[in-house]
Amino acid sequence: MKYVIKKEAARAHEPGSRYVEVALSVPQLKPLTYRVEAEFVGCLAPGLRVLVPLGRRKVTGYVIHPPGESPPPGVEPSSIKSVLEIIDDEPLLTPELLELTRWVAEYYCCGWGEALKFALPSHREKKTVERYRLSEAGRLEAAFEEGGLGLPGLKLSEGKGSHKARILVALRKGPRTLHSLAASFGRGTRPELMRLVDAGFVEKIVDEVGGSKQRMVKYARLRRMPEEDEFQDLEKRAKRQAEILRLLDQADDGRLRLGELEILSKGARAACAALEKKGWVEVAEDLLPDVEDLKESSPRPGAPSMDLTDEQRESFELVKTDIEQKNFSVTLLHGVTGSGKTEVYIQLAQKALENKLGALILVPEIGLTPQLLGRFQERFGNSVACLHSAYSDKKRLSEWRRIKNGDAPIVVGTRSAVFAPVYNLGMIAVDEEHDGSYKQEESPRYHARDTGIVRARNLGVPVVLGSATPSIESYTSARSGRYRLRSLSHRPTGGTLPQVRLVDLRKEAGADPKTPELLTRDLAAAIGERLERGEQTLLFLNRRGFSSVILCRDCGEALQCPYCSIPLTFHREGGGRVQCHWCDYSAHPPNRCSSCRSDRVGYFGVGTERVEQAVKARFPEARVQRLDRDTVRRAGAYESIFGAMRSGEIDILIGTQMVAKGHDFPKLTLVGVVVADVGLHLPDFRASERTFQLLTQVAGRAGRADLPGEVIIQTFRPDHFAVQCAQTHDFAGFYKREASARERMGYPPYRRLARLRFESKNKHLAAKAGEWMASYLRKHGVAAAGRAADPGGVEYLGPAPAPLVRIRGVWRYHMILKAKGSKRLGGVLKSLVAEFEGQAVFSSVRLAVDVDPISLM
Ligand code: ADP
Ligand code: ZN
Ligand code: ZN
Repeated sequence: MKYVIKKEAARAHEPGSRYVEVALSVPQLKPLTYRVEAEFVGCLAPGLRVLVPLGRRKVTGYVIHPPGESPPPGVEPSSIKSVLEIIDDEPLLTPELLELTRWVAEYYCCGWGEALKFALPSHREKKTVERYRLSEAGRLEAAFEEGGLGLPGLKLSEGKGSHKARILVALRKGPRTLHSLAASFGRGTRPELMRLVDAGFVEKIVDEVGGSKQRMVKYARLRRMPEEDEFQDLEKRAKRQAEILRLLDQADDGRLRLGELEILSKGARAACAALEKKGWVEVAEDLLPDVEDLKESSPRPGAPSMDLTDEQRESFELVKTDIEQKNFSVTLLHGVTGSGKTEVYIQLAQKALENKLGALILVPEIGLTPQLLGRFQERFGNSVACLHSAYSDKKRLSEWRRIKNGDAPIVVGTRSAVFAPVYNLGMIAVDEEHDGSYKQEESPRYHARDTGIVRARNLGVPVVLGSATPSIESYTSARSGRYRLRSLSHRPTGGTLPQVRLVDLRKEAGADPKTPELLTRDLAAAIGERLERGEQTLLFLNRRGFSSVILCRDCGEALQCPYCSIPLTFHREGGGRVQCHWCDYSAHPPNRCSSCRSDRVGYFGVGTERVEQAVKARFPEARVQRLDRDTVRRAGAYESIFGAMRSGEIDILIGTQMVAKGHDFPKLTLVGVVVADVGLHLPDFRASERTFQLLTQVAGRAGRADLPGEVIIQTFRPDHFAVQCAQTHDFAGFYKREASARERMGYPPYRRLARLRFESKNKHLAAKAGEWMASYLRKHGVAAAGRAADPGGVEYLGPAPAPLVRIRGVWRYHMILKAKGSKRLGGVLKSLVAEFEGQAVFSSVRLAVDVDPISLM
């Protein structure tokens, strides 16, 4: 049989052709075979990128095997298309990373090419955009045209003037694509534009844009300063406008982002519009610039190593041996914040380096601070590379190259750094291993910690997981002996764990769960003491904005985002608007209830803005600063707020979970949790775990150095075990309660989960797709939970509307699959995905498969 296939293939294949398997970055697609001419075969190694046809599209693919002489059995050679272009000169990916991405695709149920994309420095396919802009001569010409058509600076409606004039004037506001110009000016735009190019007034520019992340933003640019007397006049009559002119005049290239201006001077947008009318300022769009680097200062290598404490040394020795002997092992380091875990990673990386091996340190999104990176750079100087998701593509690429060349054997990075091409990787550390940001919420929905463990196993190297509040999953593995468990029980710098007091909000006067007392007597008194002693306070509330619920007092209806099924949040800053925290929706607050037209609309619930207001009212003399996503929009704001906190220029810092992690403020002796229960009511089996972790983490901010710390937790649920265990720093107690609940309810780590989410603009279709899936599963022996389960132990729950049933106008229904082991689950998933893709009726429904989901919302 075999012989026959070979013979046929040999006959059919054209002389000189070779066949190559290519993984495409298209969801759910299996690798496809393409033809290459023999002369190119020498250039085609696994890991190279190629451009190939797919239907009518051209897409990037990744060569996954060396080219073969015959096409795969059963494929008609004449139907095989040819590779269009070989993109790289040398493979970007090593065989090791090819293997790892294959595992990701297999385990997380996505296309191999999709996973491969994430192993490359820029996940976003490069796309070029051609735009047209004015040349030097064109700018003069445009000014002339504008002057000839009306008063200088007068806003020209796009309907006036000759074609040429209109195009030139439009381009004064910034580069435009041909497409957008034609949309504004209609027929004849293209030849006119070409004439302008020929005449030298307009030039074509080609920009690489990186897809969704690279956004256009609005800038205000100073055209000219008014005359002295005009300016003085303006200062009298329109203070804000004068201020903006001064700010722009001082700015580097005479321009500032409108968003920045708004922060510097409230109401800047309106003022800029007025200034634009007067011809002094112009507002135009441009690409958002690169995010500034985390740390610019040049690193000083070789800071001395510390002497490890006995506890640190024991963990260190254990892992060190595995680095030297190239043994796969997983060690869970359970140590309170400040117990010296980072120091252990640093010294292990040092050991790896001494053995001519590389080291990979993964940190959560918020954990990658300049402080942490600085500690690595102090020890290792330029041997450290950093991969941060907030870096620009350019910066990421240059770091990636340094890693690949072997110039930077030590890599510190967030989630996708797990795919960093570290040369001779000798160990992996995962800091704050419980952190949810290790899980990617879009395809490929991989978990960086788990992917890291698989990578280490493939390579035969050790992994260290560190956390003060290990995940239930990791701790269970450690107890069962699959991982090794080591604890760091005290802080090498001295200092004891802070005293934690609970304040029962139910007992407070006027207690209303919707708008609780923000500063109870106990908390206010404690803050007062700190102010007197010149110490600092941190107030934590995991919700930004002013009020989190806008309710009609008559019918009780909550104001919801028109596109998402969640309540809108009221923000006083930025002019008092209601905002959706899931999409970009923002609007003026309503005067009337949309369902009963009552005008008795009330603002309830708390957010950081309201806390700030209450604190300022109570302690008018204190220096108060808020830190949340709204106050750090401006580049560098985060660093400057932390800098001010360290140097003691802030008395009270109010923040969301941004303040919870990894910062060490010597004068901070009081942490107040304003309302501890914010996350406890979420319909998610991890709600207790997250609350415990967050409370423990914030509490750890108090009193790190010589001053003892105090923590006050205000809560409506003082009897909840997550709150109580956080109070007593009792991880073991928390684990016992939580793990037994998980076991009873059949949740991870006792069962494996996969979530299927059906998404469609059409609610009915999304629901129907779920029902179809349930019947498909039943037909294939998978039963609804509680019924006779299938022999492999897979069962399903649902379908049901997801807790967030509608996001950005898309309806979401979901199902949960539960299984005893991952093998059978993987098989079921693969077949159901293939089957679903084949259902033409559901072609407009997107199926998102999430293996080991973190979020069930
Ligand atoms: P973690 O990562 O567990 O929060 P760190 O490694 O950041 O802890 O250590 C907390 C503080 O203790 C840091 O300021 C660090 O420099 C210091 N430290 C860590 N290990 C030692 C040691 N062996 N001797 C003295 N100081 C140490
Ligand atoms: Zn109403
Ligand atoms: Zn929304």
